[in-house]
Amino acid sequence: MTTTAQTSDRLRTAIPGPQSAALQRRRERAVASGVPSVLPAAAERGGDGLLVDADGNELIDLASGIAVTSAGNPAPAVADAVAGQASLFTHACFMVTPYEGYVRVCEQLAELTPGEHEKRSALFNSGSEAVENAVKIARHATGRQAVVVFDHAYHGRTNLTMALTAKNMPYKHRFGPFAPEVYRVPMSYPFRDPAGMTGEQAAARATTQMAKHVGADNIAAVLIEPIQGEGGFVVPAPGFLRAVADWCSDNGVLLIADEIQTGFCRTGAWFACEHEDVVPDLVTTAKGMAGGLPLAAVTGHADVMDAVHAGGLGGTYGGNPIACAAALATIETMRTRDLAAAAGRIERAALQRLRALAEGDNGIGEVRGRGAMLAVEFAGADGEPDAERATRVAKACHEAGVIVLTCGTYGNVVRLLPPLVIGEQLLDEGLSVLEHAITA
Ligand SMILES: *Cc1c(COP(=O)(O)O)cnc(C)c1O
Repeated sequence: MTTTAQTSDRLRTAIPGPQSAALQRRRERAVASGVPSVLPAAAERGGDGLLVDADGNELIDLASGIAVTSAGNPAPAVADAVAGQASLFTHACFMVTPYEGYVRVCEQLAELTPGEHEKRSALFNSGSEAVENAVKIARHATGRQAVVVFDHAYHGRTNLTMALTAKNMPYKHRFGPFAPEVYRVPMSYPFRDPAGMTGEQAAARATTQMAKHVGADNIAAVLIEPIQGEGGFVVPAPGFLRAVADWCSDNGVLLIADEIQTGFCRTGAWFACEHEDVVPDLVTTAKGMAGGLPLAAVTGHADVMDAVHAGGLGGTYGGNPIACAAALATIETMRTRDLAAAAGRIERAALQRLRALAEGDNGIGEVRGRGAMLAVEFAGADGEPDAERATRVAKACHEAGVIVLTCGTYGNVVRLLPPLVIGEQLLDEGLSVLEHAITA
């Protein structure tokens, strides 16, 4: 095993250690192999930026379970709220009898999501389910069928959301046929777009295709991640989102912002649309919202949301009371600890170090991101994606006890999603391991 000086005192064994390896053998006999894990260390205990495995190794967590445990793992207030609610009742089904937690989460969503208009929300279990429902609502409210999505988009793994997701492998391969009336247009991807292309020009490229290939009158909604997640942490050029939003409102097309990964303080604001002053018609949320409990939402204009007939939306578990209690405690933690500001501090600390590194490394195409959603894209001088290097860097981090993830259409991006409560010193330690992995 090779470890760096920075983490060796946190590791007791090689990764995976004997306990983790034993669990790995059991899982191979019991768990479907289509559901793999990035790092074969069996999680046993969390902490603010640490994950302790079954062999007592302290892993530095720069992934947050894919942008979920932003407020801590567990956040103490979330652990208390979950235990408290579990002792009262664990399920009622909001469609059978209502309860206050569900209503309070919807009140909070109305207050926190962009825009001052009157809003309504509906709660679900997963991000994919929220996206599916946003599309259902948009189609119903507009009486139109087409949905426009972007290159590199990721919206989930259910049948409709597979159609909305761009990348074939691993998400769609041999899982078709996919849902119809989904149209894909080019995203603003500054690193890969023609040099000097502005956000407005990239938006015109996309909206021209919408108008010419689909027809504005046929489009129910344009669905977009304000900063793309799985597709490579692609931050569109300034002005792109605004111009797309304007085209939508000029053409009676609803704008759905998929803030499942970017929402809840991740990018240094409650929602990433705020950076561009864009107010979407509908917003989908999930990941960072409930401290790891399964909860997702669609929030939008009251008239759009309420267009759907009674009984048209719902689900057995959607807005489960324990998940709602966890969400309320998470939101409270984000407010009192000002985790949006914390994300901004993480951005400043990490970008500076990564950009300095990129200066002297012509295998790094771009360092980018916003708040605590940061990425290094590995590419040659000609932009040729270097997935092999991204994989190697991630693997070296894992061996040294630092959890990082890769992403991107070309698999050549290493991404960082640290919990927003991570201490400065621990973040520094994790970044040093990443630096070492990149320069090695
Ligand atoms: C993760 C993600 C989804 C899907 O959420 P699940 O809870 O995994 O179904 C959808 N959109 C975006 C932007 C995501 O990051």
